[in-house]
Amino acid sequence: EPDPTLRPAPRPEDADRALRPQTLGEFIGQAEARANLAVFLESARRRGEAMDHALFHGPPGLGKTTLAQIMARELGVNFRMTSGPVLAKAGDLAAILTNLDARDVLFIDEIHRLNPAVEEVLYPALEDFELDLVIGEGPAARTVRIELQPFTLVGATTRLGLLTTPLRDRFGIPVRLQFYTVEELEHIVARGARLMGVTAEPEGVREIARRARGTPRIAGRLLRRVVDFALVEGDGRISRALADNALTRLGVDGLGLDGADRRYLTLIAEHYAGGPVGIETLSAALSEARDALEEVIEPYLLQQGLIQRTPRGRMLAARAWSHLGLPAPGPRPG
Ligand code: ADP
Repeated sequence: EPDPTLRPAPRPEDADRALRPQTLGEFIGQAEARANLAVFLESARRRGEAMDHALFHGPPGLGKTTLAQIMARELGVNFRMTSGPVLAKAGDLAAILTNLDARDVLFIDEIHRLNPAVEEVLYPALEDFELDLVIGEGPAARTVRIELQPFTLVGATTRLGLLTTPLRDRFGIPVRLQFYTVEELEHIVARGARLMGVTAEPEGVREIARRARGTPRIAGRLLRRVVDFALVEGDGRISRALADNALTRLGVDGLGLDGADRRYLTLIAEHYAGGPVGIETLSAALSEARDALEEVIEPYLLQQGLIQRTPRGRMLAARAWSHLGLPAPGPRPG
């Protein structure tokens, strides 16, 4: 076996790409979404038509981009990728749409951040594969209609609630991605270790999976850091003790919470007696954007039963007090 320390270190984005599953069969987890998509893909293939537009929603890093790429590959068509904030003008979107081949998959990440003028152009494109473009300005302005090739739009968003209703209504296939189970993440970590050529004991794999916040992207990142420790300070193998030590040094606790998660929980515990406290207050006190709290931090804390959302704000659940090692306050009036 070659000395692992002599291998050139891959850049992180290469590693990310290398770990990306290429087929629906290689994609682990999201069983319900996968089973449904398999039917829609097969049906589109048999009919020789573009698949209906799909909307993927869920927290970052759960595989929305990966699934969209897989769809294009399974359909045997091109994959084109852009994102809501990048499409500043109607013409930017028109340029992309008019360059699509028949049945191509166009992926728009962060679709809730589309400029309204761009969104207007998207409606007839989605419904009738037509573009109405205004050429020129003032009295000389005229509208030209451009026929498009039938295509499939895959939109991705971390915030379903921020999509306008007309845009939401134009997706025939809404897919909600879920956090992954520890077992599913174990498969993902074991596969990643195999692809990186690293020996990982099942207990080491499990430790990383347990602390990956239900998220494949985080599992991949933690795996790469643990491998760093294994190569430099260990014998190259990922054991449970080595993984535990490395993750603890990275500030990832036993539940997989990182420093930002713990700051959030500790603030509510120590400054607001467990809440309820409003999101704007938390955002100001933590110097974190409200969006980041709602899209990245809170979904996992909610899923883990550490916090509750109430009409009057966020509250710590009993599990959060015990996780922080603090006594939960007794019942209060009001
Ligand atoms: P999103 O678009 O939802 O933010 P991505 O599709 O970019 O997430 O996935 C993030 C990373 O996690 C990718 O590098 C990919 O390799 C990995 N990943 C996501 N889903 C899976 C999965 N089901 N199995 C294995 N790896 C996955």
